Amino acid sequence: MSRIDVRGVWKIYPRGNVVAVQDFTFTCNDREFLAILGPSGGGKSSTLRMLAGLEEISKGEILFDGKVVNHLGPAERNIALAFESYALYYRLNVYENIAFPLRARGMKGSEVDGKVKSIAELLELTSYLKKYPGSLAGGVQQRISLARALVRRPNVTLLDEPLSHMDQRVRHEIRARIRHLHDELGLTTVYVTHDQAEAISLCDRLLIINEGKLQQIGTVEEVWNRPANKFVAYFIGEPTMNFIPGFVEHERSIFIATPEGKRVFHVEGKLDAQYIGVEITIGVRPQHIEVFREKKEHNAIAGVVRVIEFQGDKTVLTIKLEDEVGTEVKAVVPAQESYREGDRVWLYFAPSSIRIFAGDVLIL
Ligand code: ADP
Ligand code: MG
Repeated sequence: MSRIDVRGVWKIYPRGNVVAVQDFTFTCNDREFLAILGPSGGGKSSTLRMLAGLEEISKGEILFDGKVVNHLGPAERNIALAFESYALYYRLNVYENIAFPLRARGMKGSEVDGKVKSIAELLELTSYLKKYPGSLAGGVQQRISLARALVRRPNVTLLDEPLSHMDQRVRHEIRARIRHLHDELGLTTVYVTHDQAEAISLCDRLLIINEGKLQQIGTVEEVWNRPANKFVAYFIGEPTMNFIPGFVEHERSIFIATPEGKRVFHVEGKLDAQYIGVEITIGVRPQHIEVFREKKEHNAIAGVVRVIEFQGDKTVLTIKLEDEVGTEVKAVVPAQESYREGDRVWLYFAPSSIRIFAGDVLIL
């Protein structure tokens, strides 16, 4: 068992009085792959370092399998770590660097050899085993650091941007292998990254943070379909979610104001009556907008195509809506449909694809 519970944890750096982590509460389940995702400076590394025991917890508790570990150092927590900076032993060759955590636990001879060689093979390091890390490229050094973290079976594996120095091809390959190893060995992994594609391809659940605040925790599907707030809605998804100003008409409909009057949209589910008449933001993903050349009466608004980006498998249109403020939205259409700049089109939003935000918060 390796379950992590974070309860009301804060990190305040005395230097500059920086509140890096504000009141985080979350759980990483046994054998879960949890990705911590967010923009730079958000508090991801601070969180991971507190899990590792490398950073003092200003307030709150961290528990491993139900036991408070606040007072335990990194060695006593039985964790494996790999950070963006490699922190390798430059006097030892690659083999001995990887073997280090095994030898430190008293493992000997052929058992060490078997484990080192198998992880080296998985991370494409076999040809480097006799070399010294100082002479190797950054991406290779990072792989050595990762191999050293993954060579044994810890309670928890903590990885902070462990692929950042690798080139694109290697990065894709290695991330697939990390996930494979996680499953194979039944690891519990917390993985920090600012790269949403990386997080999405690896994790069971995402924990999204911004400016020291926990925004949402959930599966990729949950976060994509029901982003808790506008920050998450905008941060997850490519192209980003469209935001269109509108108003609540009734409990089951909203409208966009246009020079010709209201364009009414039915929504799925029921809005709280307190919002009737309130200005809201309509969120629609570019992948969910349906584009028509002929007029659509219901759940649709007209617009003019401004930019056409052909992307091989699909085309992204930038369309200026004929609403009162000329909102620009993006819509993904099949690559075989041809559009021209200046084409007038109708955009249909299915009720199920419409999300509603009041202020920053999702209300439907
Ligand atoms: P991330 O990993 O998401 O980029 P960090 O956890 O590294 O974010 O940093 C969060 C905030 O804490 C930032 O504003 C950063 O400048 C600040 N910070 C990080 N480490 C220290 C430190 N040792 N002393 C003071 N401020 C720090
Ligand atoms: Mg960081």
